[in-house]
Amino acid sequence: MPRLDAAPHIELMGESAVLHWGSEVIRIPRLKHGALFLMSGYIGSQLWGCEYKLSLDYLRGRIINESTVYGLLEHSRQLGVDEEILGLDVGWTPVIINRGEEGAYFFNEKMRNWIGYADFTKPFIQEPSLVMVRSDVPILGLPDLIINVDGKPAYVIELKTTSNPRNIKVVRGRESLQAESYFHMLTYLGLDPRGVAVVKVIRGVDFRIIDNIDVIIKHMENAEGAITLTKHVVMHHIKVRSFNDFLKDVDYALEYWLGLRNPRPNPSRGLCSLCEHRRVCPYSVVR
Ligand code: SF4
Repeated sequence: MPRLDAAPHIELMGESAVLHWGSEVIRIPRLKHGALFLMSGYIGSQLWGCEYKLSLDYLRGRIINESTVYGLLEHSRQLGVDEEILGLDVGWTPVIINRGEEGAYFFNEKMRNWIGYADFTKPFIQEPSLVMVRSDVPILGLPDLIINVDGKPAYVIELKTTSNPRNIKVVRGRESLQAESYFHMLTYLGLDPRGVAVVKVIRGVDFRIIDNIDVIIKHMENAEGAITLTKHVVMHHIKVRSFNDFLKDVDYALEYWLGLRNPRPNPSRGLCSLCEHRRVCPYSVVR
């Protein structure tokens, strides 16, 4: 049973790893690429993006560019936090976030912000850590912001920054599923959120999400769909499906990590043209 009063943590034991959660000890099954846990955002990428790209990211590394770093800086400005991963070097970078000693360290460090330790009497909580376990696999969720109302976590806000004004008008399937995953993880943990939204912001504009909490609450309570907060900021309400529908997506994503099926390619001009593996990928439609 998930517990709020005790943050889980991962312990490496030679070739294997276990999750400790209160008095429970869960042996983590062997996962693809030596992963120890899943980031909940992967589920949306696997279902709506290109799962084959995720697989190549682990095999070949991925590219961190100036725009990625600028996005992280804007993220920290919006939320009023320090992003610890700002030390990422620009260029090809191996994915270490959830595997090996770095993975265990990352997971356990994130538990400093465990949701069970949060003070819900504050107006909001930045970047709390959520965990759910499915098929003995820990899934880590890191929502950007949780807004509290009447001493309870009420609204989950996922922030997406962009330099392209056209991007703020649409929410992609993977972004929607990522935001929805946080809602369901809070429910799994026995908290009872009211709603979830993706807020899209043009980088560098004169707007800060944490200075506009009241406006966001007002729109979360009274509006639906996409709400233009300013010329450069659009808030998108996310329709939340049933917990069981969400679990079906989780199980599909886990099949890959558990080695039960191969990664699914999803070639398209839109995805391949932005993909760093397009020149070596056998499925690429953009060379
Ligand atoms: S090139 Fe296209 S099909 Fe290949 S991994 Fe990238 S997005 Fe997927």
